[in-house]
Amino acid sequence: MTGTPDSAAIEAMDAADPLRSMRKRFTLPEGVIYLDGNSLGPASQEVLGELERATREEWAEGLIRSWNDAGWFDLPLELGDRIGRLVGAAAGQVVVSDTTSINIYKALHAAMGLRPDRTVIVAEGDSFPTDIYMAAGAAASRPQTQVRLAGVDAPVIEDLLDERVAAVLINHVNYKTGELQDMAALTRKIHDAGALAIWDLCHSAGALPVELDAAGADFAVGCTYKYLNGGPGSPAFIYAAKRHQAEARQPLSGWWGHARPFAFEQSFDADPGIRKFQCGTQAVLSLRVLKGALDIWQDVDMAVVREKSIALTDLFIDLVEVRCGSFGLSLESPREGARRGSQVSFAHEHAYEIMQALIARGVIGDFRAPSTIRFGFAPLYIGYEDVWRAVDILDEVLRTAAWKDERYAVRAPVT
Ligand SMILES: *Cc1c(COP(=O)(O)O)cnc(C)c1O
Repeated sequence: MTGTPDSAAIEAMDAADPLRSMRKRFTLPEGVIYLDGNSLGPASQEVLGELERATREEWAEGLIRSWNDAGWFDLPLELGDRIGRLVGAAAGQVVVSDTTSINIYKALHAAMGLRPDRTVIVAEGDSFPTDIYMAAGAAASRPQTQVRLAGVDAPVIEDLLDERVAAVLINHVNYKTGELQDMAALTRKIHDAGALAIWDLCHSAGALPVELDAAGADFAVGCTYKYLNGGPGSPAFIYAAKRHQAEARQPLSGWWGHARPFAFEQSFDADPGIRKFQCGTQAVLSLRVLKGALDIWQDVDMAVVREKSIALTDLFIDLVEVRCGSFGLSLESPREGARRGSQVSFAHEHAYEIMQALIARGVIGDFRAPSTIRFGFAPLYIGYEDVWRAVDILDEVLRTAAWKDERYAVRAPVT
């Protein structure tokens, strides 16, 4: 128990936090400790301003002229390059488009097409489910293609790699446990087996430094409404390494992926670059909100974000175990900070009810079936005192068994 900081130490940690001034840019409600930015990031002053400009000036006044005058048409590429800077991708390799699920489908097809003699997709059994569903969907649309799952067909990805594997779809950070994969090492093993690596960055983009180019990743996908704070349903992104772009094909050959969309030609001729990964007209208002959200990241150093993220999550684990250790919680996340994303998960028999009781008290995390309470720590707006107060409230909920109140057992459709 020695080494657990007291409230004076917590105050000093907040005072010394180089990211402290970022918090006031977000519009978090009073009395809320928001530990769910890994599921839906909060709004900021920047996005409210952009939304106002996008609707009043660009749409209401500019009308159709804004496709050119306000740069709407090139926004997916402009924002793609901005996200590229956060995930270690040089310009021209990332485009913002569609949803993560759809982009997984595009990336899988592109990878399979680049390995035409191979018929196996490897994914992870404990992956965020849409990744497995989309892998099954992509496999079903190609002759004789199979999906092998790590954790089901063999214990780990490495054991599933052989000369039949075309593509491996990996979650950089596991959505439930927060376990972080070594991107460079695993990509190397996948390449040694002659396959291509597709990384899902949903829980790492904006949470920690990502080095797609340096790791030699082939494709990557990710969403923008989690740590990047792009707003509910904001469009996702897809990365295709430059070396694959000319040859890669994606199956959703819509007009926005055409080399000359406004030539209105009868046959499809894919753009030679990253533009080919677009399909149709994008949700411009959502793109404009995302632009505001990305403005916040302009001067942020991801190494500083990472250092604080590990400090916040280490502190949370320490305090929960010291103060709430006797109430049946067990840590589901890696204990070692270097192996963990920016979240902490605990298992508990009554996880759902406990999370509802916490939310009723302003500590917003989430529940993941069957028995996980999950807390995300976004270093741009969460401080050390938030961690301290959240543990205080968790301790109260467990100590008084407040979670037993029957209203906390009522299940909502979104958890
Ligand atoms: C959140 C998340 C998704 C979401 O996919 P959408 O198509 O954007 O709904 C996909 N994969 C992972 C790993 C996620 O965490």
